[in-house]
Amino acid sequence: MTIAAPKVLVVEDNDMNMQLVEYLLEEGGYEIVKASSGEEALSITRDSESPAPDIILMDIHLPGMDGLSVVREIKSDERMRGVPILALTAHAMRGDKDRFLEAGCDGYISKPIDVKTFLSSIEQYLRK
Ligand code: MN
Repeated sequence: MTIAAPKVLVVEDNDMNMQLVEYLLEEGGYEIVKASSGEEALSITRDSESPAPDIILMDIHLPGMDGLSVVREIKSDERMRGVPILALTAHAMRGDKDRFLEAGCDGYISKPIDVKTFLSSIEQYLRK
């Protein structure tokens, strides 16, 4: 019997970053669902037919709706409230971290992504 791979929703508009994240998550045995905009992410999380992801990685700088607005929308959805969201950001400075947490993020991963610590960061939030 196999245990279902945890499902990660990745919201990222940059192809290079998305490819790297996809590669690392697949190596780690995760199932990945990709969205390249906030609008696309919301259509995925609002689809009550498909099971909620186990964790969400959210780029903050997105075309159209910005990442923190998307986080607020997702966290206002009762079905998604308990799903951890990690911000993906190149601007993880002290003030920004507060803004992310206030918007409903559970933590953040700094870009450029550190390939050595990426999977353990995700595991840490999945266990909470
Ligand atoms: Mn971006």
